[in-house]
This record gives sequence, structure tokens and C-alpha cells, in this order.
Amino acid sequence: MIKEIITSHRRLSHVCEDAIEYGNIKKISRNLLKTAKFHADTETGCVGLAANQIGYLSRIIVVKTMSKVNDPWTIMINPEYILKFGGFKSDVEECLSHPGIKTKIHRYKKIRIRYKVESDHGPLITTIDTFKNFEARIIQHETDHLNGILI
Ligand SMILES: [Zn+2]
Repeated sequence: MIKEIITSHRRLSHVCEDAIEYGNIKKISRNLLKTAKFHADTETGCVGLAANQIGYLSRIIVVKTMSKVNDPWTIMINPEYILKFGGFKSDVEECLSHPGIKTKIHRYKKIRIRYKVESDHGPLITTIDTFKNFEARIIQHETDHLNGILI
């Protein structure tokens, strides 16, 4: 289901909790992906979304991962940094929860993160990945959302 994007800074300022319950994770992930894809096809050109932007205080993000050829969107459950490295880059960011605002932000160029992904059956699978440049920027932006931080 495509959900409404939350723009209230008060509601977006809470720190999200780890996603644990499987049924919830499935529902949130599905709604997050549908909502992100819907906005990706509009002039906003959405490339990532955090669960609290659609009303769930749960540590789940979806990121457009252009480097993964077979699946351009990755759902990351309980993402955690292992390493941030490669120096910084400053670039302009926008946010669906902050319409019309463009802000220049310093981000690490590279990150290594651990996150869980859904499997077709049974438990979640822990994945470790390294991302760089634009994808690393998106993930840092979305992870900030989970910690109640807006651009
Ligand atoms: Zn945002």
C-alpha cells in the first residue's frame, strides 16, 4: 500500500527501534517499497525512504541500489555501520519529508554496513556490504532518519 509521507518534524524526531517481529517487518517492507517506487516515478525522483517517514518507528530503510543490477531496490532491516571511511564529500540533498528544501551535507564517501534482508522462507539473512559515493550518501541519509535526524 502506498502510504502518506510524514513531514511533521516532531513525529520524525523519534529514534526508531530494531525491527523484530516477522509479520511487521514484511508489512512495513512492502509498504516502504511501494511508496518509494511510487515517488521514484514522480518529479521528486525518490532514491530512498525510511520506515518512520511512512509512520512506522521501526529500523527499516529502502534504498535504490544502482550497483546491484538484478535488484535496483534493497530493503535493509536494522542497518548498522561497521565502518565509515574514504573521507568526506559535500553534496546537495533533498528529502520527501522536507519538500522544496535543498541542503548541502557532508557525508562519508564509503561505508560498510551490516543489515538483515528477508528470505523467502524462515529467518532473516544477515548481509554485510560496502557502498560508496551516491549509494553511501543515500544510506547515510536514511539511517539518519532512523535516528530522528533530518537534513
Ligand atoms: Zn529524507
